[in-house]
Amino acid sequence: MVTSLEPVVGTERKVVTELPGPKSRALHERRKAVVSAGLTNGFPIYIERADGAILLDVDGNQILDLGSGIAVTSIGHAVPEVINAVSAQVAAFTHTCFMVTPYESYIEVCEELAKLTPGTHAKTSALFNSGAEAVENAVKVARLATGRQAVIVFDHAYHGRTNLTMALTAKNMPYKDRFGPFAPEIYRVAMSYPFRDGLSGAEAAARAISEIETTVGAHNVAALLIEPIQGEGGFVVPAEGFLPALSKWTSDNGVVFIADEIQSGFCRTGDWFAVDHEGVIPDMVTTAKGLAGGMPLAAVTGRAELMNAVHEGGLGGTYGGNPVAAVAALATIKTMRDRDLLGRAREIGQIVTTALRDLQRDTAMIGDIRGRGAMIAMELVEPGTTTPNAAAAKAIVNYCNQHGVIALACGTSGNVIRLLPPLVITNEQLADGLSVLADAVRSVH
Ligand SMILES: *Cc1c(COP(=O)(O)O)cnc(C)c1O
Repeated sequence: MVTSLEPVVGTERKVVTELPGPKSRALHERRKAVVSAGLTNGFPIYIERADGAILLDVDGNQILDLGSGIAVTSIGHAVPEVINAVSAQVAAFTHTCFMVTPYESYIEVCEELAKLTPGTHAKTSALFNSGAEAVENAVKVARLATGRQAVIVFDHAYHGRTNLTMALTAKNMPYKDRFGPFAPEIYRVAMSYPFRDGLSGAEAAARAISEIETTVGAHNVAALLIEPIQGEGGFVVPAEGFLPALSKWTSDNGVVFIADEIQSGFCRTGDWFAVDHEGVIPDMVTTAKGLAGGMPLAAVTGRAELMNAVHEGGLGGTYGGNPVAAVAALATIKTMRDRDLLGRAREIGQIVTTALRDLQRDTAMIGDIRGRGAMIAMELVEPGTTTPNAAAAKAIVNYCNQHGVIALACGTSGNVIRLLPPLVITNEQLADGLSVLADAVRSVH
C-alpha cells in the first residue's frame, strides 16, 4: 500500500542542463529510425518520473507542468489513491473484455457518471478507450435513436483524429490535410466567439440556428455536437446564453444535444462539467482525458431512452472500460471529491486570470484572456489589431520550455496560449510558472 510517496521527484522547477538535455537529444535521434515522423513533440524532453505538477526528465531536469498532458492528469502525477487502485487491479486481473465476462468496476464508473453528469433523469453509459471513440459512438447512438443523419458542429471545433471525428473537427492542418475523403452528413455552423464576433449569446445562437434551419433543416438533424468551452480550437468560451439557447432549440426539434466535455470536464472549469455553469442539461455527454488520472478511458453518458435504443451488441470494443482504467477512474473521482478539486480549480482560475490581466496592462499583444477555472488562455494579436499573432505564441511557448515550464499553444490560427495546470499544483509552483510566463511575454514583446 502506498500512503505517501518517497520524494523521488522534487517539488520545484529546476533546470540543470540545456533543454532538451543530452540524453533527451540522444533518444530523440534514436526514435527517428522507428517512430513515424507523423508524430511530433511540442517539447522533446524524455520523461522518467513525475510527481504532482513536476516532471523529471532523463537529464535530471525538473519541469513544471502547466499542461497536464492536455488536461489528463488533472489530479497530478503519482497520486497514491490511483497507484494503489491500479497496482491492486493489475495483480487481480488486467482484462477479460467486458463484452465477454463483466466485472463490477465498469458498473461503478457508470454509476459515478450517471451521478455526476448534469440532470437527474435516468442515464446509461458505455465506456471506450479514447475521446475520439467516445464521440464516434455518441454520434452512432444519436443517429440510431433519432433515425436521422445530419450532425451539426461548430467553427474551431476539435473532436478527434479518426475518420468521423476528423470530419467533425474544423482545422485542416495538421489534423485533416490529405487524409480524406471524410464522413458525410456533417454540417459546420458559426460558433459564438465574443472576442471576434461581438455578438451576445442569444444573437450568436440565432445566427447558428438560422444557418442550420436554412441549410440543413431541423428535421434532418440527429445531433448537435459542441464543446461547451472549446479546447484545441482556442479555449473559445461562448457568450452567456449561447448554450442554453441551442439546448432549447435541440429539445424543441427532437435533436440530440451532445456536450463534448472531453477537455472541459471533470473539475477542470471549477464545475464537474463546463455546461453546469449555465445549468444546461445535455442529452449526451462525452468524457475522457481528466476522467481516469492518466489511464486511457472514455465514456458516452446519455439519456437512458437514447442509449438503450441500441440493439444488443451494437456498442462495444475489445478494451473499452478496461478494468485497470476503470479503477483508476474511481480513484480519480474520489481524489477530486476528497481534495475539493472543484474549489481548487476556481482558485487557480482567479490566480491565473489576475496574473494575466496584470500582464495585459504591459502589452498590447494580449488581445483576450478567457476561460474558466483551471482552463484559462490568452489570445495573442498584432498590437492594436485583432490579427492573430501565431509567431508570438510560438516564441512564448518556446521561452517557457527553455526555462523548464510546459505551456501549450492552441487555436485555429495557433495564436492562443492555454494553461491547464494539474489542480493539485501548489500556489508556489503556480506563481513560479506564471512568472516564467510573464518573462516570456516580456521577452517577446
Ligand atoms: C482531446 C479531445 C478529443 C479527442 O480525444 P482523444 O482521446 O485524443 O481521441 C475529443 N474532443 C475534445 C474536446 C478533446 O479535447
